[in-house]
Amino acid sequence: EQHRIIMDETAIRRALTRIAHEIVEKNKGIENCVLVGIRTRGIYLAERIAEQIREIEGLPVDVQGIDITLYRDDRGAGGRSSTQAKDQQSGSEGASARNEEGLFVQDKRIILFDDVLYTGRTIRAAMDALMDCGRPQTIQLAVLVDRGHRELPIRPDYVGKNVPTSKLEQIQVSLHEVDHEDKVTIIHQ
Ligand code: 5GP
Ligand code: MG
Repeated sequence: EQHRIIMDETAIRRALTRIAHEIVEKNKGIENCVLVGIRTRGIYLAERIAEQIREIEGLPVDVQGIDITLYRDDRGAGGRSSTQAKDQQSGSEGASARNEEGLFVQDKRIILFDDVLYTGRTIRAAMDALMDCGRPQTIQLAVLVDRGHRELPIRPDYVGKNVPTSKLEQIQVSLHEVDHEDKVTIIHQ
């Protein structure tokens, strides 16, 4: 197993600062925007970007979290919809999202955050979940690392770092909020 650091603390900070500026530029401000972080690390990235945008624009930024749960054979059953059950039978990951915060998306400019973008299936599920809550004006996507291998027509609007990977490689994202350090590593097994 080989480990190689591809982003250190400084590189992560600079990438997030750049993305904060890109978001403000693309949206001509931050009015009507909601940052939505996916699961653990996407939420911390969204919170960090929101803090930077507050400094740039002098305005508060709405941050929300979304939990996309992939249903697998080894997970507990109970209360799954027929759609999810069907997805599971067909062998694909039937995804479902829990909306704990009660997302308000109607007419909002949604900016989704995740740590790593891979096949695009998580983002597809997140977009489904968001659109179950209303009709956003737009949805944009920000990721810290794009490792390639897309299986769906999904591309990020904001990228910390493009890291072409083989399928045998894995990206490890550590953020100090949960991992006590900021670091992105590529692991080859
Ligand atoms: P996708 O749904 O695009 O195939 O995978 C993206 C989701 O799985 C993200 O939520 C991401 O956290 C996780 N993921 C996929 N590949 C990797 C990886 O190499 N490293 C990490 N840390 N997460 C990954
Ligand atoms: Mg994730």
